[in-house]
Formats: sequence, structure tokens, C-alpha cells
Amino acid sequence: MFSLIESEEITFFADLILPIPVPKLFTYRVPRGMADILKIGARVIVPFGKKNSRVLTAVVAKLHNSPPTAYQARYISEVLDEYPLVTGYQLELFRWMAEYYMCCIGDVMNVALPSGLKISSQSKVQLNPDFDYPELLTEFESILLAELKKHPALSYEELGRLAGEGTNVPALIKSLVGKKAVIVFEEVREKYIPKMIRKVRLHPNYEEKEQLLVLLQRLEKLPKQQEVVMRYLSHVPMQRNPALNQKGLDKTILNQDDELSQSSLTTLIKNQVFEAFEVIQPRFSDNAAPQAEIKLTDAQQTASSKIMAQFEHQNVVLLHGITGSGKTEVYIELIQQALGSGSQVLYLLPEIALTTQIVVRLQRVFGDKMGIYHSKFSDNERVEVWKGVVSGQYQFVVGVRSAVFLPFDNLGLIIVDEEHETSYKQHDPAPRYHARDVAIMLAHWQQAKVLLGSATPALETYFQAKQGRYGLVELFQRFGDATLPNILLVNLQKEKRQKTMKNEFSSALHDALEANIARKEQSILFQNRRGYSPYMQCEDCDWTAECPNCAVSLTYHQRDAELRCHYCGHKEQVPRTCPTCGSTKVRTIGFGTEKLEDQLQIFFPESKVLRMDLDTTRAKNAYQQIIQEFETGQVDILVGTQMITKGLDFDNVSLVGIFDADRLIHFPDFRATERAFQMITQVSGRAGRRAGRQGTVLIQTQNPEQPILQKVIQNDYKGLYEEEIQERQDFNYPPFCRLIKLTVRHTDKIISHRAAERLAAELTDALGSSRILGPEEPLVERIRNQFLFDILIKIERDKVNIKAVKAFIQDRINDILTDKGLRQVSIVADVDCL
Ligand code: ADP
Ligand code: ZN
Ligand code: ZN
Repeated sequence: MFSLIESEEITFFADLILPIPVPKLFTYRVPRGMADILKIGARVIVPFGKKNSRVLTAVVAKLHNSPPTAYQARYISEVLDEYPLVTGYQLELFRWMAEYYMCCIGDVMNVALPSGLKISSQSKVQLNPDFDYPELLTEFESILLAELKKHPALSYEELGRLAGEGTNVPALIKSLVGKKAVIVFEEVREKYIPKMIRKVRLHPNYEEKEQLLVLLQRLEKLPKQQEVVMRYLSHVPMQRNPALNQKGLDKTILNQDDELSQSSLTTLIKNQVFEAFEVIQPRFSDNAAPQAEIKLTDAQQTASSKIMAQFEHQNVVLLHGITGSGKTEVYIELIQQALGSGSQVLYLLPEIALTTQIVVRLQRVFGDKMGIYHSKFSDNERVEVWKGVVSGQYQFVVGVRSAVFLPFDNLGLIIVDEEHETSYKQHDPAPRYHARDVAIMLAHWQQAKVLLGSATPALETYFQAKQGRYGLVELFQRFGDATLPNILLVNLQKEKRQKTMKNEFSSALHDALEANIARKEQSILFQNRRGYSPYMQCEDCDWTAECPNCAVSLTYHQRDAELRCHYCGHKEQVPRTCPTCGSTKVRTIGFGTEKLEDQLQIFFPESKVLRMDLDTTRAKNAYQQIIQEFETGQVDILVGTQMITKGLDFDNVSLVGIFDADRLIHFPDFRATERAFQMITQVSGRAGRRAGRQGTVLIQTQNPEQPILQKVIQNDYKGLYEEEIQERQDFNYPPFCRLIKLTVRHTDKIISHRAAERLAAELTDALGSSRILGPEEPLVERIRNQFLFDILIKIERDKVNIKAVKAFIQDRINDILTDKGLRQVSIVADVDCL
């Protein structure tokens, strides 16, 4: 008896999070030798799928002794981490997010782990070119290897298919790797390639003043070349300090686009007057020396002390500070304090703001103690940051929304800058989370404090502060003696009547631009629509170019001479004649940033215009390059979409022009007024950020009487809040209720509609009609050939078991998804939808 028990094996089981959209954990067997080393939070490799044809990286969520009842547990193939890669806090976060945002825990993990940490099916197998011990192989392996020779590399899945049904692919690969017959490698999609800047400097022979003079005299007869040298000296004043020559000057600055100076420069290099060289452009270009100690102004110091005082009894504090008040400096002060007490700090920024100036400023203060987490970074770079947080190299991380997933375990402070920004909410794919709200949970678990900052707080946030659930600190003074810009409304109806419009430009804006260019000051123009024009239409019949896959018109892009769908990416050629009636009078209607850029070049041919929108910033460093070029001062006008509204800080911008304000205001959404106010205020805030001259903002509108515009002019956030919050209460919208949006999709409109009707009916039965709106067709009712229907669910904030409600909704969804009559319907839940 005794001996029997002794020899009986204790089988361990592990519940694993698999990176697939299935709402549960999977139980696997832990092989005997593995039991001692396997830890919760470690990654493992497991077979998956009907014939073990897939290989997945999973994370251990739980270790236990009970075998699953519903299926035969398979074995874990391999352990990847000796120490847990995912902390207990993160596992808790994953669980909470899956439940709160009504998605699968696997979806959360998938978004949380940088793909560099998930090998699984992205791993590839290839023949080891040095392999020459065929006698080691089994017959089956030899056959397989012969097949493998025909391919450069195969994924695990492809190899599984090749090996045939019933093969244990991980075991097979393990055996082949052990015999050194194959190599497993990660397919790295993007490597970090440093960007080179081409520079020039004067040959050291001319660094001395005398030689330089001789050179200039010699070039008297060659005015073009002399001009190039003079231009160089104007940027690099080496007469005063010869050492400056060492650093040289960007070649592009010297060329200034004109061919003459280009050829002169080439000659000068050939004659060894100049020498050309290259340097690596730092990821965040930072030419200046480390920042001299910044001293907070009195107002900033007061704000900072108040925040600290409120943290004594509040976990979340809102810093309501106008644009240019120096919120960043206040953050820096608080970050230093938190780091000083030994805790970690996370600083969240909206996607776009992160690539820019703020990071440079932070880097001057925190140097390489600071990690940067950004979606345009490669996997390798993201893995570096992840590991840096674990190792303690990065006590401080500045990052975009997905930085909430980093393995912090000792957070003291989280800052959410521009907390009103909608880009903190992930729309697709699941988890559809809001980074600000997740940050607040994260802080709650780790007993950290949260500072939300904005010049135009989200209504929801301000409401919490008013209710006393968050602290509130105000900073209503611009730094230095700078004042808020003077905002003027331009009446388009009047200008049209008086025929003073110049294409899309009112004469008021046109003349202001002209004057600004003459003063050598910079201007920013905002139009929240990219492309040349949003419609292409036939004048003779009513044909409009539309996307074949979506219910939207195609946008005309002149630069690439094509029509594009902004929803599905469909592209087509521009028709010369109307496809319906053959008329040649096909014209564009409306305008986007591209068209404005075009018109500016006609009005002001001498000036330099840059455009910043999705189309000009696709490349990794494109955004930074535009900012840098604008900063160095040779650009007169920057035209852009909402990208230019966020966090930019330029000294020399004194004019901001806003187009199409009415479209922002009248967007059919209950948040439209709030959004319009935020956007217009933020972009206005780019003007006049330095003491001396007050900036000007011109807003083009059909109706200057609109109350919201009056509030913008008076910078009356509180007035806007009072009015809006009343409406929200009257019509029961957030923050007075929670919103969950369910979107039903199918390629067949009838099926989509039937599923949506049934879902809405079932929800109405259980929850009551006052809580359910719809089903309704959204603004764009067809995307990628899927017909959409939305159901909006309103749930009270108090006295309702929201968990139970969500579980019920999920249950109804699952029921519909398994209905044979509604095959392939997909239903997406968006909790706290924006
Ligand atoms: P906000 O984020 O509130 O719009 P910023 O933090 O960008 O404002 O500050 C606006 C500008 O004023 C920045 O260029 C910043 O460097 C400068 N600034 C703010 N406070 C100080 C200070 N105490 N000392 C020096 N410069 C400051
Ligand atoms: Zn026509
Ligand atoms: Zn489309």
C-alpha cells in the first residue's frame, strides 16, 4: 500500500491564458520535470488546435491539481521563462479588463505583450545549412527535411500541415532542433535602422579667421559659391567660435531646394572647401545640452503644492490648466518627487504628442533613466522597455495608451496628460479599453496617485471633480507674460455675399496670413479632413464616387491622383468622364488639407508650406521631421488635421486659422459640442505661447452667433460645462449613466438586422425599454461589405450590479452567435464607448 502511494505520480495542471479570442482559460498538463520550475506568470509553449497543428505562446495563470472534466488535457511543450514575465498585478489587470470590457482574456494578453515576446506561430523553421548528420534522423524526419529543403522557411503551422495529421509538431521540432537539423528563428518584421543625417562643414583649413577671410576674397569672383559659404556662416557663426564648425550643418538647410546652390555646394566639396559627413540622428533629436534647472513660477509652485496636498486624501487629482500654463513643468516636479521616494512613475501621452517636443524636454531632465513606449517603435524596442522596467533600469516610462500594460509593480504616480483625448480609447481590436480609466484601476491596486491634466477636461472627469470624487487644481496663467490668443470669428456668409472669398480662404484669413508671412512669423491652419476633397461628383447627373465596399463617398487625393476610401483603404483611378452619363464635367466638392496646401502655394508662392496629416506622416520619423522643420523656422505655414492640435509648443506661431468649424460643431453625436470646444481651444492654444505679442485665432464659420463659439472666444470652459452637463442629465447620457454599445455585423443586411432586432428585444425584455436604444444604422451603415446595426445600452451608475448586467448581455450575445439561422453574425461590445 505504502509503496503504491509513493510511486503514484502527482500530476500538476496549469490554467493558461492563450492568445486567442476564446473567453476562458485552458488547462494543460505539466510534465514531471517541469513542475518544479513552472511559475505563475511564466510563458510556456503549447500545442493547440484539432491536430496539434498550432503552436501558441501562453501565460500561466494558475497551477493546481484538478484535471479538466470536459476534455483530455494535453502537455505543455516548453517553458520559456525561468522567472515570471507577467507580474501578479498584470494578471489581475488582464482579468479585470476582460470582465470590465467584455472581451476575452486572451485578447487582453495579445495586446499587452509586445509581439517580440510571443513566439508561437510567428516563429519560423528553416533547414540548418551546416547540418550533415542525416544518419541521426528518423525516416519520417528525413522525408520531412527533404520537403523543407524546397522552402526557404516555414511557420510552425505550415510545417504541421506538411507533416500531416496527428503529428505532434512541437515535439517534432524539438527533436529536429536537438539534432541541429533545423533552426528556429523569429521573423523580425522591422529592425531599428538608425536614420543618417547628411551634413557638411568647412574644411579645417579654413577654421582660422585669416584663412576664412582669404577664402571669402578668393570666392569674390564666384558669387554663387560665396553665397553658399555665407549662408553656412550665417547658421554656424564660427567667426565667433571656430569650434562650432566641428558639428557642421544639415546639408538640406544649405541647399534650400534651389539647384544652383546645390551645384555650387558640390563644387565646393570637390574643391575641399567643404567636407561632407554623416551622423546618426538620435531617436529623439536633442541637440541642446541637458536642461538647466527650471524654476517653477509662483503659480506653478502653488499648483504643485496643492496637488501634493490633495493627494493626501484623494487618489485622483485633475489639473485644469490652460494651454501654455506649463503643466509639463508641474508634472516634472511631481515626477522627480515620486522617483525620489523610490517608486515607479508612468506618464501617459496621446499617441501623437509623444513623438515630439515633450519627450525631448523630459529627456533633458531624466536622460536615459526614462523609458519611451511608443507604437511606432519596433518590437525589439518595445521588448527593451518591457525588460528595462523589470530590471529597474526604467523607473520612469513615458508612453502611449498601451504602456499601461508594462510590468510595473511599484507605481507611485501616474500622469495622464491631455486626459480628454479620445485616442486614449482603443477602438479596435478588443480590448476596447480607455487608458485613463485603466490607469486609475492600476493605481488603485498599487496604491499610486493619478494626476489627470488638461486645458479642456473631459466632461466626465470634470463632473467627478465637481462631485468631490477627484481633487481639482486650477492653473489659469500662461507661462511668462504670454496671454491667451485673441479669438475672432469670420463670417463666411458675409464674405460670400460680398464676394471677398479667395477659394476656401476668407479675405480676413488671407490677409492675416499675408501679414504674418511678412513679419516672418509662423501660422498654423487646421482642417480636420485629409485628402484634396471629400467628394467627386458629376455636374450633369447626380453620380458621386462611392466606395464599393462601404457606404461612404471616396476622397480625392490629388498628390497620388486617386480616389480613396478612408474606411477600408479601397483605391481607384480618377475617372475622366462620369461613369453613369459620360459627361466630362466631373468635379470635386469640399476641401481637405491637400487642397488648402495647394491654394496656399498659389496665394503665397514665395512662402514655404508644410502639411501634416495621416498621409504625410506614415513613415516612422516623418512626424518628427515635419515638426523639426517647422521649428527651425524656415516654414511659414503648417496645415494639418487634428494631429496639429496636440501638445505642440512653437515659439514663433502667432496666427491660427480654423476651417469648417461648423462641421465639427454639428457632428451628429451627443459629445459633438464638447469635442468641438476641445479641439478648437486646443488648436487655438498653439498661438502666442511666448511673451511679447498676443496671438490671433481666426475661426471661419457660417454662423458666428452659435453659443459654443462665444464660449470658445471667452475661454469659458466652466460655462460650457454647466450647459452641457445639464443636457446630459436631461437626456440621461454619461456621466449620468454608463454606455455600452453593441455592434452587430453581417454581409447580409437582412441577417444583420434580424440578429440586432432579436438582441435588442431580448435586452429590452430583461432591462426595460428605457435602457435600450436601437437597433439603429450607424452613420456609416456598411463597412467592408458588412452591414452594421448599433444597440446602445444605458445603465445607471449606482444601485445596479453592473457585473451581472454585463454577464447577462454576454449570455444573450453568445446565444445569438450559436444560432444556426444567424451564422457568421459578429457582435462587438464596446464598454464606455466614445
Ligand atoms: P502646457 O502643457 O500647459 O500647454 P507647457 O508645459 O508646454 O504648457 O509650457 C509652455 C511653455 O512654457 C514651454 O515651452 C515651457 O518650456 C515653458 N515654461 C513653462 N513653465 C516654465 C518655467 N517655470 N520655466 C521656464 N519655462 C517654462
Ligand atoms: Zn454624370
Ligand atoms: Zn471602403
